[in-house]
Amino acid sequence: MVERGAISKEQLKVALELQKKQKEKYLGQILIELGISSSKINDTLDLYHKRRPVGQILLDCGTITSRQLEEALDRQNITHEPLAKTLLNMGYITKKCYLETLATHFNMPIVSLEDYDVSLTLQKVLGQRFTLTNKIIVLEDSLTTIKVAISEPCRMFIDELQSYVSGQKKMEFYLADPSELEDCLKELYPVDDYNGNGKKLVVNAASLDIPRRASVYTEDIQTKRAIQILDLILERAIESNASDIHIEARQFGGVVKLRVDGELRPLRVPDDFNKEYTSIISRIKVLTESMKLDEKVVPQDGSFRVQYGFANRRKAIDFRVSSVNSNYGESLTLRLLDQDKARVSLLELGFSSDIYDAFVTLIKKPEGMVLVTGPTGSGKTTTLYASLNALLDPRKKILSIEDPIEYVYKDLVVQTEINKARHIDYPTLLKSFLRQDPDIIMVGEIRDSETARTAIRAVQTGHLLLSTLHTIDTTRSIGRLRELDVDPLTFLSYTSGIMGQRLVRKICPHCMVEYEPDKEIIKRYFGTLKVEFPFIRGKGCRVCNYEGYKGRTVVNELWIITDEELAKNRDISDASEVRHNAFSNGLKTFYMDGIRKLKQRQTTLEQLVKTVPNIESERDMYISQMCHGDHRRLSLITSG
Ligand SMILES: [Zn+2]
Repeated sequence: MVERGAISKEQLKVALELQKKQKEKYLGQILIELGISSSKINDTLDLYHKRRPVGQILLDCGTITSRQLEEALDRQNITHEPLAKTLLNMGYITKKCYLETLATHFNMPIVSLEDYDVSLTLQKVLGQRFTLTNKIIVLEDSLTTIKVAISEPCRMFIDELQSYVSGQKKMEFYLADPSELEDCLKELYPVDDYNGNGKKLVVNAASLDIPRRASVYTEDIQTKRAIQILDLILERAIESNASDIHIEARQFGGVVKLRVDGELRPLRVPDDFNKEYTSIISRIKVLTESMKLDEKVVPQDGSFRVQYGFANRRKAIDFRVSSVNSNYGESLTLRLLDQDKARVSLLELGFSSDIYDAFVTLIKKPEGMVLVTGPTGSGKTTTLYASLNALLDPRKKILSIEDPIEYVYKDLVVQTEINKARHIDYPTLLKSFLRQDPDIIMVGEIRDSETARTAIRAVQTGHLLLSTLHTIDTTRSIGRLRELDVDPLTFLSYTSGIMGQRLVRKICPHCMVEYEPDKEIIKRYFGTLKVEFPFIRGKGCRVCNYEGYKGRTVVNELWIITDEELAKNRDISDASEVRHNAFSNGLKTFYMDGIRKLKQRQTTLEQLVKTVPNIESERDMYISQMCHGDHRRLSLITSG
């Protein structure tokens, strides 16, 4: 570097002195702290191929195993996302580690955007559209340098940006947390502008996989502006990770709400939304191709697909539309089905490690039934897909029955869909499956006795069957089976395990603080138990929309069913006896997993009290077991 004139001999000497004192730091980092520009350092490093690759940095510090790196590289082949981001998405590294690794690799300091006073005017330095499209935030602009924050650096991108500034100015890069940067952009730009780059969303005939008929509409029913506004709404919904878009008619026009992390929040729409309301509704119906424009009274449904993202990193998102006629006119609900989520792994869903390990052992058995239970909206289907993903194997025949098919597998799974109009239902399809020589069968839901009985037959003949059941918790499946007129003991003797699931909101990692929850709530959850860890919540910040929560995670219970345990139940119709027996046999309950999620600072006590079923009796069962001297096992269950 001295040879190249990037630094002086004196600077090198000082840096080397400093490195002796701070052994954990790389020379590059120290040079930056001494005020040498990171681009100068990087240019020199690149010239001599001295920059360490991201994978190597993580391997060296022991954060990931070489096996995990291989898995991530395989996956990267499909997603084409940067390696660090892939590892982050797979749950192999934390966000902190993601930032630190990139900081080391690119020799870029990490910044918190909250420390800077960023304004829209400041963004004009590079052009607002430019910063928005490329996800850059200008932090400072001086005579000689422009300081910018980015969150997904890559070599080419940085070179391109460098060349964007002409004249004497230099660009200095800083690394910001991806979600913090995203949120900062959203705050800077109103919905109209933020989405206005228009490059990211493709909702036109050419983008759709299905061939389309010639235009069936005329310009006047779906105005240009209506198309534009709808694009904005769809983009914002995708960006905020919404599960549903609600478009509701009002006396004059309508409103739009997004469901994010299970809760509805209003979306600020452009001023002319009301004027365009009916055109927007027409536009959506036209996109589905199946919904009739002139039918406004009878409820209808349909779906359409959009491509989202920049070229060669596009992903497909399906929208399932349903309409109802309300007193002020037609209202629509659009459910978002992000096809990437079909590739979600069990790890990414947030299972506690012991539940994860035990559950994976269950689904990797060659035969038996594994069920996921919970009410509507508890993420059962996602977990089912994630389980299937863990089993994908070209040497295995995998069949699925779904209602409807939500996520499409390109290969490896033969997916079928029930069709009520043509009398193709769960039992019919399942019976025909048994003649198809499958290894693994996935059934969307067991909701009638014939399906339940056929499922038993499938397991008897040596198949692995994954399905869901609509019940409160694992042991109460017995009542549900009885409702379905199936003998619970027979059914359970073919079941290897049942997992119960709930979703809770996750504490925003940007604004965690210790706090003291309401005494009543503590007492309700813990009774006489002593709590030896601090309670944490999010105090609310820009990143989490001042809600204190961001994203959701799972709380689970897992019942591994053994014949010995079933034989111990004198009376299978006594739900509490079954539950106590299961508990003393190692049932991992929601209650216990909840405590673990508190210790791990994943969620708040308030969320658990809202979500965990039968808290009082579960707590008492847990406490009485502790008093019977089985301390060691229980402390193991809730540790970590
Ligand atoms: Zn926050």
